[in-house]
Amino acid sequence: MSARAWTLSIEDRTKLIQGAFEAKKGSYSPYSHFPVGAALLTPDGRVIGGANIENASYGGTICAERTAIVKAASEGTRSFVGLAVVTNVPSPLSPCGICRQVLREFCALDMPILLVPGDYPQDIKEKEKEEGKPELSEGGVREYTLGELLPDSFGPEQLELPRSAR
Ligand SMILES: [Zn+2]
Repeated sequence: MSARAWTLSIEDRTKLIQGAFEAKKGSYSPYSHFPVGAALLTPDGRVIGGANIENASYGGTICAERTAIVKAASEGTRSFVGLAVVTNVPSPLSPCGICRQVLREFCALDMPILLVPGDYPQDIKEKEKEEGKPELSEGGVREYTLGELLPDSFGPEQLELPRSAR
């Protein structure tokens, strides 16, 4: 993939990335030892963070991205302009399938998603390009849109479609 234009300002990117690192501190991950932080940016410039919260009954575990979006949505914020996600792994890791679908409920398909390496900022000159993925940008961040991470997706507007009589 070719180099892409950043759709967020430097200030907003910085705010989101810092927000994700800050949110990661709230992780409760005694089982996986895999803390994750996520930060959502609202149209009015607020950052809403979330961390992964695990459960002794593993299926009850909630990812950082869903923590952030549920916190925001339950307090009336249901519109977002960007998301950043960070782990402790020194490469950009992507949201799981369930989180992608939950994001789809409230986020535009062209919303940027910043995948931040745990050792951000990296010197990306030393990094090799990975086939089929967007180039790493400043600090080793990989940027996708939600639509790229969840192509041909099902969302709220599909429920508005006319149904056949049968
Ligand atoms: Zn997830």
